[in-house]
Amino acid sequence: MFKVFAMQSKQEAAIEEINALLPQTQCGQCGYLGCRPYAEAMLNGELTNLCPPGGEITGRRLARLLNENYLPLNPAHATALSLSVAVIREAECIGCTKCIQACPTDAIMGASKRMHSIIESECNGCDLCIEPCPVDCIELAPRIDQDANKMRKLGGRP
Ligand code: SF4
Ligand code: SF4
Ligand code: SF4
Repeated sequence: MFKVFAMQSKQEAAIEEINALLPQTQCGQCGYLGCRPYAEAMLNGELTNLCPPGGEITGRRLARLLNENYLPLNPAHATALSLSVAVIREAECIGCTKCIQACPTDAIMGASKRMHSIIESECNGCDLCIEPCPVDCIELAPRIDQDANKMRKLGGRP
């Protein structure tokens, strides 16, 4: 019995070690229900190149930890990343900073009681900033739709 517990805790420790390298965005773009399930799958042989928010650095760290060759990000998952971006309707923002606290990639600029806006190149479309916004002024929009997104920022409906 002791042996079984020892094996289980060794496995848990290995999963946690892998999980600690993941961005904790919990966005599901890897195809799993969050970072820890993906970490568990990698321990059981899943590929290390399925996490778009982690990018190349995470991919390299995972490969090193698991003693595997580095693989560039799987393009199917990279596409999911590039599809959406968050847009703040800036006139409605009350500057509460809740979105900044929720954003795992530091993609939101702003100070307390000041208007906030998104740094598009840093936003991975994970949508974690949307639910915490008390005035519901953040939406996800297609990343390629630049002109329409400028209108959205100003409160218009493209
Ligand atoms: S894609 Fe990366 S950040 Fe998103 S849930 Fe999977 S492991 Fe976590
Ligand atoms: S969707 Fe929101 S929380 Fe996610 S990266 Fe973009 S700005 Fe940050
Ligand atoms: S959570 Fe909403 S209201 Fe608060 S700062 Fe962010 S965008 Fe503005």
